[in-house]
Amino acid sequence: MFTGLYLHIPFCLTKCPYCSFYSLPYRKEYLSDFITNLKSEIELQKNIIPKDQSFDTVFIGGGTPTSINKGLLEIIELLCQNFNIIKDAEFTVEANPGTVDNDFLKSLKMSGVNRISIGIQALCDKDLKILGRIHDKNQALNAIKSADLAGFENISIDLIFGYPGHTINNWISAIDEILKMPLKHLSAYEYTIEDETLFQKKISAKELMLPDEDTIISLTDILEEKTEINGFRQYEISSFAKQGFDCKHNINYWDNGNYLGLGPSAVSYFRPLRQKNISDIEKYFEEIEKGRLPVDFTEKLDNEAGFRESVVMALRKKNALVFKRFIEEFGINPIIYYKNIFEKLKKEDFIEFNEKQILLTSKGWRLSNYVLSQLV
Ligand code: SF4
Repeated sequence: MFTGLYLHIPFCLTKCPYCSFYSLPYRKEYLSDFITNLKSEIELQKNIIPKDQSFDTVFIGGGTPTSINKGLLEIIELLCQNFNIIKDAEFTVEANPGTVDNDFLKSLKMSGVNRISIGIQALCDKDLKILGRIHDKNQALNAIKSADLAGFENISIDLIFGYPGHTINNWISAIDEILKMPLKHLSAYEYTIEDETLFQKKISAKELMLPDEDTIISLTDILEEKTEINGFRQYEISSFAKQGFDCKHNINYWDNGNYLGLGPSAVSYFRPLRQKNISDIEKYFEEIEKGRLPVDFTEKLDNEAGFRESVVMALRKKNALVFKRFIEEFGINPIIYYKNIFEKLKKEDFIEFNEKQILLTSKGWRLSNYVLSQLV
């Protein structure tokens, strides 16, 4: 099993109205304090994690890691100096098209980053404005071209669908155009209303309207059909990859593997302990300056809770969930534990199962949120 390293860079140039990730507007004066405190957090963590702990994947997300420009290179060096990152580790940085150019992408590549995940979200200028993005369609496409020119073989993009005002025609042209680009991976997230966001308020006030259910089904069908025709395999609810380019860092999450999280709001998980850092940069600084880990809460998952969580996470992946792994890891057989729920879900045509494994049907896959909610 892998161990992942995640770093949350909590800065963005502006706040997108649909987003609930912890981030604040980037101000240059925050950067040196952030790096100083991150160094201290790393020192504190190094006293806790085993001396021989190695990391198989690194993921720098946020926020917008590329908003801090050269500061990001300094941080990457810091991670490489302080952690035992295996040779050929998957090393991802999230990038916003409005914050990268050729030279910066080349510097990222030179620093050891080998996977770039570009937040495109949409490919229609009108929609990008609705989504509050800082970039337009041309910048989005140019960012992909620049990443390719910089030598990134493993380029991923993020898209959103089903947001207010999204139409089938827009989606068709976006997918057709994006799939002509040199991509190896694509994540497409159905828009969901997040608490305390501007979109949530506007949708509640009926100032923004979401597409209806039939439109969402069509958007999903278009995504699945066109990605498949273009050689992408859907390997998780929202993830599509060319052969050999599944995201290892995310697979580790779905396998309920261990990971260390650094930075405000980052989560760490070393079974059975889960810890979340404080989602407030000032308090994060304060705790670290007092020589304490900036932890908001810690929870210890008992065997049963760990089992249930692992089942739900594993079912996000497209392949069948094999019971043997759970019997070996937790001493619990899913077919016995979930007997009544499995039978009900089977009757409703959401799943198929035998004594060895369970698989979501195409109906179950489409309504996976409902299926997973039954198993939590
Ligand atoms: S750039 Fe990304 S992290 Fe920042 S506000 Fe927008 S969606 Fe959220």
